[in-house]
Amino acid sequence: MKIHEYQAKQILSQFGVRIPRGEIADNPARAREIAEEIGPRVVVKAQIHAGGRGKGGGVKLANTPGEAENLADQIIGMNLVTHQTGPEGKRVKRVLIEDALDIGRELYIGIVIDRAQESPVVMASSEGGMEIEKVAAETPELIFKEHIDPATGFQGFQARKLAFKLGLSGDTFKQAVKFLSALYKAFQSSDASLAEINPLLITKQGDVLALDAKMNFDDNALRRHPDIAEMRDLDEEDPLEVEASRHDLNYIKLDGNVGCMVNGAGLAMATMDIIMYSGGMPANFLDVGGGVSEEAVKNAFQILVSDKDVKAALVNIFGGIVRCDLVANGIVKAAKELDLTIPMVIRLEGTNVELGKKILQDSGLSFFSASSMKEAAEKVVPLANQ
Ligand code: GDP
Ligand code: MN
Repeated sequence: MKIHEYQAKQILSQFGVRIPRGEIADNPARAREIAEEIGPRVVVKAQIHAGGRGKGGGVKLANTPGEAENLADQIIGMNLVTHQTGPEGKRVKRVLIEDALDIGRELYIGIVIDRAQESPVVMASSEGGMEIEKVAAETPELIFKEHIDPATGFQGFQARKLAFKLGLSGDTFKQAVKFLSALYKAFQSSDASLAEINPLLITKQGDVLALDAKMNFDDNALRRHPDIAEMRDLDEEDPLEVEASRHDLNYIKLDGNVGCMVNGAGLAMATMDIIMYSGGMPANFLDVGGGVSEEAVKNAFQILVSDKDVKAALVNIFGGIVRCDLVANGIVKAAKELDLTIPMVIRLEGTNVELGKKILQDSGLSFFSASSMKEAAEKVVPLANQ
């Protein structure tokens, strides 16, 4: 789950991570009030679940409370387009009004889970402020990494090593070490999957603060953090993904045109692989669950047909826990009720597969059938590209 910058800063400050003074506003008058309190010079920052806001015109400096009010008026309600939102952009509902600070240096700090090393990794770079992906691609030697043993946690010497490599000294060095430890504590305690500070600000006076903050969380751990779960902003999420999660379907929207409906996450991954292997691109990952009820099949189809990018669909069901005849009945019923018009390739395998295939044949609906995954993928890709 993702949250907004102002929410991430609230969490981080509870753990002792230093952030600029600021408050959230959902209207220009409130923005002015906050600026009068903490200003006069403030930064007005659009709150959306995407980075690159600065370049997109969503982060602006105001010299007076009146200016802050005007900027808030421009930014709230605007459709902000950044390299992370896609061309359709995101509508801004709120702005964070923050004390404007004088920038000395902009650094980068990020904590993620390194799956290959099976541990969290703290990354630091002196190349903050800009797109860190570019730094990683072009000058990877400028990103310093410390892997964390989860049993012992982030050690003081590791924080000092990173602060030293960032070229810090004196009181700034001490502040950075404290900052890094507090950030790791926040990351670990909140079951975050990402905590990123870009830029980490070193002020002209040598103070260390989080100018920007981004946190993502492990969905499976959210039940342990009801306060964080409450921060979810459904407006920022893909509407089809929200709808799918309401029906307990595992659905992720992707860029291709082949809709997939599969039971079991492993089979769903393999199905996406074989679609790509056959020269196609999946439009989604969709796992309806090992059991697959008729209801789940219908909900899944509803989501597939609501996605205008889906030009053909591949249904790949393994009847292990579930029987193929039950699934076939579910497919026929859903196809009739929803008036499915996209071409559909169906591959059933497992318990009662012959009966399942017969139900599909006798339905009078025009499905394409396939016996193997390879055959199914090779049939669906040209159908989607037609
Ligand atoms: P992002 O573009 O979505 O990553 O948004 P950021 O919060 O990182 O802000 C973008 C840029 O705005 C930063 O890299 C800074 O250069 C600038 N900025 C943000 N806050 C301040 C501030 O308090 N003072 C000044 N001078 N610049 C700021
Ligand atoms: Mn940033």
